[in-house]
Amino acid sequence: MRYLVISDIHGNLEALDAVIGAMTPLGFDRALVLGDLVGYGADPNAVVDRVRAMNPLMVIRGNHDKVAAGLDDGESFNLVARSAVQWTTDALTPENLEYLRTLPAGPTAIDDQVQICHGSPFDEDAYIFDELDAYKAFETATRPVCLFGHTHVALAFRRVGDRLELPAGPGDTDQIRIPIDPGARFLVNVGSVGQPRDNDSRAGAGIVDTNAGVIELYRVRYPIEEAQRKIRLAGLPEILARRLALGR
Ligand code: ZN
Repeated sequence: MRYLVISDIHGNLEALDAVIGAMTPLGFDRALVLGDLVGYGADPNAVVDRVRAMNPLMVIRGNHDKVAAGLDDGESFNLVARSAVQWTTDALTPENLEYLRTLPAGPTAIDDQVQICHGSPFDEDAYIFDELDAYKAFETATRPVCLFGHTHVALAFRRVGDRLELPAGPGDTDQIRIPIDPGARFLVNVGSVGQPRDNDSRAGAGIVDTNAGVIELYRVRYPIEEAQRKIRLAGLPEILARRLALGR
C-alpha cells in the first residue's frame, strides 16, 4: 500500500488543499490522518468536510479534536489554544462535532508494517521531541514504522538494535526519502499541515509506501496570507495568524 500521511491540519483549509493538490499527482492508495483536524485555524467545518471526502483508511483524534468535541476540558491548554478551541466548538456544525466525537484514539495498527498515533504509541497526548522520548516510544511501538504527530515538527528516528539515528530533523527542508530497511524500526512525524513549528512555514505531508519500502517527507507551499486573513476576520488571536508565516 501507498499511504498519504497527514497530521495537525488545525482548520487550515488553504494548507490542506495545497497538500492534496501537490500529493495527488504523486499517487497514493489511501490516506492516514493522525489527528488535530481542528483548532487554531478559521475553517474547521471545511477541513472536516474535506477529510471526510478523502475517505481515509483511518482517522484518529488529536487533543484539539477531543477538546473541541467536548471529550476533554482543555485544562492543559494555554489561553490562546483555549480561546481558539472555544471558537471552534461554536463554529462546528452538529454533524461535524459528532464526527470528531466519534474519532478513535490512537495508537492504531494499520497493517503489519505501519502503526499510527497522535502523540506517542504509549499515550495519545504525550510528545515525542527528542531521543529520550523516542527510546520510550520505540519500547511500546508494535510495528516497524510508527507514525506520529502532535509536535508539528517533521522528524524521523531510525533504530537498529540500540542505536538511534535521525534520518530527518528540523532544518531539513528538501524532500527526504528514507528507505524502510529490514531490521530497522522507524518513528516518523511528517510535520503539520496547518501550523508548522519547525521554522519552515510550508505545509508538511508524507508518503509511506510499504511495497516500495520507502518513507517520503514533503513540504508544500500554500497561500499563507489567505489563511491569515481568515483567522483575523474570525477574530481569532492575532498570534495564530502571525505564527503561520514564521513556521513556529
Ligand atoms: Zn496539533
